[in-house]
Formats: sequence, structure tokens, C-alpha cells
Amino acid sequence: MTDCLFCKMASGAIKPDIVYQDDAVLAFRDINPQAPLHVLVIPKRHISTLNDLQETDGALIGKLYLAAKQIAAQEGVALRGYRTVMNCNAEAGQSVFHVHLHVLGGRPMHWPPG
Ligand code: 5GP
Ligand code: ZN
Repeated sequence: MTDCLFCKMASGAIKPDIVYQDDAVLAFRDINPQAPLHVLVIPKRHISTLNDLQETDGALIGKLYLAAKQIAAQEGVALRGYRTVMNCNAEAGQSVFHVHLHVLGGRPMHWPPG
């Protein structure tokens, strides 16, 4: 999608602060971090929301979590703990409509989330 911010990052048209990438997944630091570690993990292929996932996307979504696990280890929060969040649509606060997994760490997390 040409007008999608995260597609532009996936294609290299916009260059975020990349912490991990492979053939299917890109991960970069959030521009407005909510924790000392705040990384967004995206599929390079455009999918708007969690509601748009197809049965055939299962392996791709699994790759987002495998990337999150690797990022947590390389950023030194794996043992301390970290949180992964995927917001879907307005009431959850989704603001960029290309699915992304937030990886948050480096401070204590609270529950329930706001
Ligand atoms: P959402 O609210 O959709 O779950 O999360 C979108 C995230 O994208 C937000 O945490 C926001 O700070 C981040 N974001 C928005 N624009 C940019 C940008 O241009 N660069 C980066 N690195 N992150 C962005
Ligand atoms: Zn996109």
C-alpha cells in the first residue's frame, strides 16, 4: 500500500531505527517510546488489522512473536520480563493500520493496562 507509513518502512522508502529484520518481518524503535525498550514488529506485507488475518497468515504472525523473543534477548529484557501488545481498531487505540506487535520492556509493567 503506497500510502501506508509502515509499508514505506518495509520497502525502505522511510528508514526507521531498525533492530531486526528478515525476509518477512521488520522491527524498529517506536518514535514515541512508552518504555525504555519500545520496538514495533511488523510483517513486511500489508495487513491492516488483526481482524484481517487469514488462516494462511498463522506462520507470519508466529514470526512476529519469534522476532519479539529475539529482540527481548538482544536488548537484555528477556529474563526481567517484557510485554507484547497488538492493538486492534479504535477502542484499543490502534493508530497505524498496518498490524504491528509492540514490544515493551525495561520498566515494571502494570495490570490492567489503561
Ligand atoms: P498503535 O497506536 O497503532 O498501536 O501504535 C502505533 C505506534 O506507531 C505508536 O506507538 C507510535 O508512536 C508509532 N509511530 C507512529 N508513527 C511513527 C513513525 O513515523 N516512526 C516510528 N518509529 N514509530 C511511529
Ligand atoms: Zn502497510
